[in-house]
Order: sequence, then C-alpha cells, then structure tokens
Amino acid sequence: MTARILVVDDILANVKLLEAKLTAEYFDVLTAMSGAEALEIVQRSLPDIVLLDVMMPGMDGFETCERIKSNPHTQHIPVVMVTALDQPSDRLQGLEAGADDFLTKPVSDVALLARVKSLVRLKMVTDELRMRAATSERMGLIEQAVVVEEAIKAPGRILLVDDRESSVERIVSTLEEFHDVGVISEPQDALVKVPELDCELLIVSLGLDNFDGLRLCSQLRSLERTRNLPILILVEPDDNTKLLRGLDIGVNDYLMRPVDKNELLARVRSQLKRLRYTDQLRESVEQSMELAITDPLTGLYNRRYMEGHVSTLVLQAANRGKEISLIILDIDYFKAVNDTYGHDVGDAVLKELSKRILQNIRGIDLACRFGGEEFVLVMPDTDLSFAFLVAERIRQRIASRPFELGLDTGPLDITCSVGVASLEKPDDTPEKILKRADQALYRAKSDGRNRVVADAA
Ligand code: GH3
Ligand code: MG
Ligand code: MG
Repeated sequence: MTARILVVDDILANVKLLEAKLTAEYFDVLTAMSGAEALEIVQRSLPDIVLLDVMMPGMDGFETCERIKSNPHTQHIPVVMVTALDQPSDRLQGLEAGADDFLTKPVSDVALLARVKSLVRLKMVTDELRMRAATSERMGLIEQAVVVEEAIKAPGRILLVDDRESSVERIVSTLEEFHDVGVISEPQDALVKVPELDCELLIVSLGLDNFDGLRLCSQLRSLERTRNLPILILVEPDDNTKLLRGLDIGVNDYLMRPVDKNELLARVRSQLKRLRYTDQLRESVEQSMELAITDPLTGLYNRRYMEGHVSTLVLQAANRGKEISLIILDIDYFKAVNDTYGHDVGDAVLKELSKRILQNIRGIDLACRFGGEEFVLVMPDTDLSFAFLVAERIRQRIASRPFELGLDTGPLDITCSVGVASLEKPDDTPEKILKRADQALYRAKSDGRNRVVADAA
C-alpha cells in the first residue's frame, strides 16, 4: 500500500521527522512549511492524505483545513490534524474545520502508521465510488452524490462492549449528549447481539474480564452483516501488542485508557462521518445504476438493459438445452388515445398497463419497455405453448377491465396485440427470436388486433 502524503509544519525539524518515518514505510512524501504553501501543493498535486500542524503563524491549521474542505476539487482529501497533547479541545475544533483524523505530538510510530494506513485504505474505496458517482452525475442520472454536512450532523447509533461499570459510566455520559448509546456488559452475548442491533459504530474494550475483545472484533469482521461495521477499540495504556493485533485485524481506530473525553468525541465523530460519507456515495451509485437500467415512466427495465441481458439468457438456455420464450406486446390504436385525451392520459395508460403486466408474470421473467407503447417480456424455462397462455392471460387482463384514469368520460377501453416466439434451435439468437415474435405481432395486428399470435416457425 503506497500513497502520496503531504506533511505540513512550520518547524523544519517536525517536517523532517515525519518525512523520515513515512519514507521508511515507502510512502511518497511532499512537504510544506506554511498553510499557504500547503494549499498550493494540495491544488497542484492532489495528495492522498494531508498531515497538518495546527499551530502555524499566518494561516493556522484550522483555516488551512477549512480551505481544503471547502474546495469541491480537494474536499475529498483526508486531512489529519497534528495537535499538541495539552490542547485536547483542538480536536473538536479540527473536526468543525472538517478534519478527518488527529495525531498528538509527539507523534508515535504506531499511531502515525495506524492512522495513515487506515485512511489510505479508506481512500481507495471512496476514490472508486467517487469516480462512479461522478460519471453518474455527468450522465445526469443523479444530482450531487454526497451532502457532507448531513453526513456529520445526525446523532450516531453506538454500541459499547465493556464490563467495567466506572468505564461504561464515563463513556456513556460523554457520548450521550450527542449520540444514542447502547451497552453490552456481558461480552459473551456480543457476537449474537451486535449483528441484530442496527448500530453504526462499535466500541470494544480490550480489558474485558475473561474475554478476548480482539476475538470478538475478528469474528465480527468475518460476518457478512458486520464486515464493514466501524470498530473502535479501547486499549490499556501501552499495551502495544494488542493494539497492533487489533490494527492487523482491521479495527478502524483506537483510544488509549484513560479515555480523554474530547478525543473520544472526536474519534467517534470522525468514524461516523467516514461511514456516512461512504454510505451516501454507495447509495447514489446504486441508485444511479438502478436509473440507468429502468424506464422512468413505468419502472420496467429499459431496452438497453433488456438487450444486454437477453443475450446472456438465450445463450445460457441454448447451452443447457432449456426453453426460453419472448413476448412482444403493442398497444392497439394508442396514437388515438394521445390524440383524443392528451399525452398525460397516454402516459397513465402506459403505467397502468405495465402494472398489469407485472401482476401476471413470475419473478424470473424480465419485463421491459422496448419502445413507446411496445413491451418485451423474456421468459426463461418457458416453451412456446406456455408463453402463449401467459400472453393470452395478459391480453385478457388488459382488455377485460377498462382503465380507470379519472376521466370525465369514464374508464378507457384498451386492447393490445401480442406476438410470441421461442428458442427453436441451439444456434438461435435473441435477434432472430425477437424478429419472429415481431412478425407474429404483425400478424396479430393485421388479423384484427386484440389477439395473441404464436410464431409458426
Ligand atoms: P397500432 O394499433 O397499429 O399499434 O396503432 P398505434 O396508434 O398504437 O401505433 P402507432 O405506432 O401509429 O403510434 C404509437 C403512438 O405511441 C405514437 C406516440 O404518440 C405514442 N407514444 C409513444 N411513446 C409514448 C409515450 O411515452 N407517452 C405517450 N403518451 N405516448 C407515446
Ligand atoms: Mg507549529
Ligand atoms: Mg400500437
């Protein structure tokens, strides 16, 4: 894992020290000695992470951070504030400026590498999601993918696994002011309870009586439901062995006891912020994928998706010697509906008709809006005679019950014509089957409409 890291500090010795430590771990290091210089490098080189000193003459670390975070071009770059040990309130102020993480001077090697590696890992995921979301934004499928403000503000749902009463009391009272906190004080219940409770962040004490907190963390990491659950561990002072094991297992962050209240709040908030940021990105990517394959008016699959997917289905059926059928359905005299009642009524007919189609097919059948008032159904494991029956049932469900659209003139009689064709020989292609279904549809139209014709092939 390598990454480009910008180290910013007004004291040369500090810059050199961090540079040496990071270079030894094969990170690519850039340096700056003022806020202004840092901003320039961030703009120009887009580093993967910025380590930012708080106390600098001129533009201090908070302001520098704020500027990085208010520029849409650079706001996704993680910023780690490097704060003095005796200024714990700096951490909350840093969060308000948009910082993603904190390091305390003097910076320990374990802390430095733990934070940097966890941010690099996270950034690889968010970069990929960000690229996809950006494509969707460009294609006009979604609006702005992430609203960062919203991602930070809401209270978090936090679970604490700790069996020491005084510690529980202290942590809960600190977090309660901003978040909902649940406590699991019998650690052996945690593996069952955590996946059931819908929490956003888990805090696990490693000082549990007769119970290995790290085992719990690793078991949760291997469960599907909790694989991505952020975990923060509470480590006994200087128990570096457990801390390093924890970081290896993939816990997201840690706190040393005695727990500093400000640091606890700051670390909890930055974990929540990361989680919500990636969740929002993931959601908008999923949403845009959904939009890319569905027809907005009817909610059925669109033609592009159907054409992509039907080749797979036909090929699979041909290879396995199974049946597959296609149905093409076209509304009769639909132009007259538009001409008489207007386009909106036409649209309402298309929606209602789609609903009736969906009510009469199976989950594995694929329904798509192929064009204006033309629909295609793909039916795996279905032969021509059965597909004919399904088509006939759909035709009847449309013709026998007039469409109630709230018109003054009463419900509308709608009918459709349908063509059906199936996979005939192993070398049949979707195009050929579709063409035969279309020819059958043409016959249904010319024979008088409101009927189903099966391909005679
Ligand atoms: P036929 O029985 O031969 O199929 O006659 P038809 O009038 O249904 O067929 P034609 O192809 O002449 O007209 C199809 C009409 O479908 C033309 C167009 O106005 C309408 N149409 C296509 N897409 C939409 C749409 O998204 N909304 C609405 N309201 N109408 C649409
Ligand atoms: Mg300084
Ligand atoms: Mg038509």
